[in-house]
Amino acid sequence: MQKKRLSYYVFFSIVLIGTITLSITSFLWIGNIYQTYQREAQRIQENYTNEVKDELKNRVDTIVSLINYRKATTEARLQKNIQSRVLELNGLMTYLYESNRDKLPDSDIKKLITEAVRGMRFNDGRGYYFIDTLQGDVILYPVAPSTEGSNLFYLQDERGNYSLQQEIQLVNKHGKGFIEGYWTLPGEDTQKDHKKITYVHKFAPYDWYFGTGEYLDITTREVQEEIKSYINQLSYGDDGKQYVFIHDFEGNELANGRFPELIGQNHYEMTMSPKVQYIDRQIEIASTAPHHGFLTHLWPNFSNGNTSNKLTYIAAIPSWGWAIGSGANMEDLNNAISRHQNELYNQLISGIQKALLLAAGIFILSVIAARYVSKKMNASIKLFTRNLETSSAQLSLIDEGKVIYQEFEELAKASNNTTQRINTLLHKDELTGLFNRRYINVLFDSLLQQAKKDDSNFSLIMLDIDHFKRINDTYGHPFGDQVLMNIAQCIATEVSTKGYVGRFGGEEMMVLLPNYNAEQAFEIAMQIKTCVEQIRLPGQDFSVSISGGISSGTNATTFELIQQADSKLYCAKNNGRNRIER
Ligand code: GH3
Ligand code: MG
Ligand code: MG
Repeated sequence: MQKKRLSYYVFFSIVLIGTITLSITSFLWIGNIYQTYQREAQRIQENYTNEVKDELKNRVDTIVSLINYRKATTEARLQKNIQSRVLELNGLMTYLYESNRDKLPDSDIKKLITEAVRGMRFNDGRGYYFIDTLQGDVILYPVAPSTEGSNLFYLQDERGNYSLQQEIQLVNKHGKGFIEGYWTLPGEDTQKDHKKITYVHKFAPYDWYFGTGEYLDITTREVQEEIKSYINQLSYGDDGKQYVFIHDFEGNELANGRFPELIGQNHYEMTMSPKVQYIDRQIEIASTAPHHGFLTHLWPNFSNGNTSNKLTYIAAIPSWGWAIGSGANMEDLNNAISRHQNELYNQLISGIQKALLLAAGIFILSVIAARYVSKKMNASIKLFTRNLETSSAQLSLIDEGKVIYQEFEELAKASNNTTQRINTLLHKDELTGLFNRRYINVLFDSLLQQAKKDDSNFSLIMLDIDHFKRINDTYGHPFGDQVLMNIAQCIATEVSTKGYVGRFGGEEMMVLLPNYNAEQAFEIAMQIKTCVEQIRLPGQDFSVSISGGISSGTNATTFELIQQADSKLYCAKNNGRNRIER
């Protein structure tokens, strides 16, 4: 089975880890965004509903406080109104008296005054003035002139108060002032006991007093009518379709800012939709403490006949039996809420898109990073592979600087050590430490070729130890080996960097001298010969010698150069040994 590539694993593990990390992060992030969205959506719903509730409540409460204020000021206004009228009349009556007292008899003046005042009306014709004597005789009572001349000293109101007696007592004591009484309203006999406030004033010249009164309920009704017509023209909301309404605790519509056709109708009798049960609940809220509250209910839409959901706020003026309310369409409310929520949803989507885009960006970066790392790894590994593939003859070293990553550098170092060791074993002769025959031949080929190419000098020295067999025979092989090593040392030292020394075979050595001519080679050979002559082995006093033959030039082949040098060496042997021939 073919094994998987390491770079493949490195690449995929980086990408995989990146993907997993990214997925988890994105998942958490998106989850977080989604939770925020849900919270916000909820909050919008609550806020918006509360906003609408606040608005409804404010709207109605403002009217309620206006009504309460008007209610509180009604009696005071009434008092002020009748008081100022009576004071005005006092001025007029006094003027009539003063301007005529010297010209006319009292009876004429009294008549003049009485008839002048008789026709005076105010408050939509409701208001009039009366004049009585301090004994309770009626002088002027324009709404029932038949009573004029009679004595009403013992007249009692609905609660049994002696009204004229109280009035006479007051003007006798203070000259003027207010009196309260309780009477049946003119033209109404169902509800008795209406509070009437009267202002009386003494008219000293004739022992008279006069005054005027007003029913508080009538003034209150006026105020109510004012408030109703005020409400009837009010509209609220962006589209002006919201309004305030009033109905009493019996379900009669009293005011309505949007549907004037409802005014005067009873909600229980309306046949718009039998499903509608709001009126019971509205009356219940209005009539029981704390007399205000919210309700949601179905409402027949008068403009299109559909039923809609409404949120309504009701507050009451219990003493008037009024329920005042205002509602908002739940559909509008929900539409507004969902509009806000949609906006938020779009933000959510774009947030998620951004998160995914970022994740995709990071993913691509991680792929690029993974590719970069695996490529670099591959390059380093290729360096090793190529190095091993190409060095069948010569094991070359790996350039440690070109290798990336510490591990590969260590590997290259170890490999280079091994290579160097192998190269040594491969190239060197074990005994002498000189190049072996195989390698010196390789060198010979390439150096001669280079010399030919460069057209430079080239020389070859073949060396052979003299009578070496004899040394072996005499002292034994191990001793011979020692001699061989010493001689090899001599040759290596003399040649040094000038050329290359190899063991050609047995006790024959070969020296390659690129850039040296025959003459120069001869000198080097002579130095070698001298060095060998001087070798002294411990405990022995005999000397060894060496013979050599030289060949030079770049025109011959290696084989021919060896032959030529060999034949010179043969000459040297023949000529007595310890000689160099060229
Ligand atoms: P000549 O002066 O004519 O060269 O005489 P020679 O005795 O040196 O020549 P010959 O070729 O007859 O002998 C070579 C000897 O070298 C034979 C062999 O025993 C010896 N020899 C070759 N290689 C080694 C070696 O590695 N170690 C030892 N100790 N002797 C070796
Ligand atoms: Mg020999
Ligand atoms: Mg020999």
